[in-house]
Amino acid sequence: MEISFAGKRAMVTGAGKGIGRATALALVRCGAEVTAVTRTRADLDSLLLECPSIRPVCVDLADWEATEAALVGVGPVDLLVNNAACAILQPFLDVTPEQFDKSFNINVKAVLHISQLVSRGMKARGTGGSIVNISSQASHCALRDHAVYCATKGALDMLTKVMALELGPHQIRVNSVNPTVVMTEMGRLGWSDAEKARAMTSRIPLGRFAEVEDVVNSVLFLLSDKSSMTNGVMLPVDGGFLAC
Ligand code: NAP
Repeated sequence: MEISFAGKRAMVTGAGKGIGRATALALVRCGAEVTAVTRTRADLDSLLLECPSIRPVCVDLADWEATEAALVGVGPVDLLVNNAACAILQPFLDVTPEQFDKSFNINVKAVLHISQLVSRGMKARGTGGSIVNISSQASHCALRDHAVYCATKGALDMLTKVMALELGPHQIRVNSVNPTVVMTEMGRLGWSDAEKARAMTSRIPLGRFAEVEDVVNSVLFLLSDKSSMTNGVMLPVDGGFLAC
């Protein structure tokens, strides 16, 4: 299946590392003009060395006002990938209010904010668009030490559905991809321990974690017109984990 985003303008958050970085690069390969939003300047510098056509925006998405100021000049966006997130792991009984607020700020509130900014423009132009939120299998399944992370991704799934409901009439589709573990920096944080990793892969019918490319391919599909009647879905990229 050929996917082309020629003439489309895309924005990817958390594009400095991992899944977001690979998504930004894949979108460029498919012909899109890409704005990469992330927090660490050095990541944007290395991304630009790799792909000079990418437009960099350096901002901490936990900061509502700074985000608004950073994105005001970006211009029209047709395709949005809300990928930036944090995963702070703690046993339920040790969760702190600071951890709760930080996680919800980035994983949920920033998605709402950026999507508002982008979809207001899509609505005004009347050209429609596609938004993909990067959720997780953790939105559907309890994982030890993941109380707040699971809660943020559960909230994100419901946000995706309501956005799909309210933005659909403007031909703006909103979907999520829900990966299992991917061995990025975030994945290594929770799953480097061989015993823990084995316990998780043994619950995945395909018997392995997801590769970054597995996630990117599903994102590209949901962004593209190949999924033009798909709106408000949570697409697992989990080798069957959630089916069991
Ligand atoms: P990653 O390697 O940790 O990369 C996350 C990116 O988001 C980094 O570039 C990070 O920048 C950026 N980011 C985080 N907080 C930010 C903030 N406040 N403002 C701006 N940028 C920020 O993570 P990943 O594994 O690629 O995860 C990408 C998405 O997939 C996330 O939504 C995650 O929840 C989801 N996911 C991951 C897994 C997994 O196992 N890896 C599984 C399921 C779902 P800094 O480094 O500067 O903070």
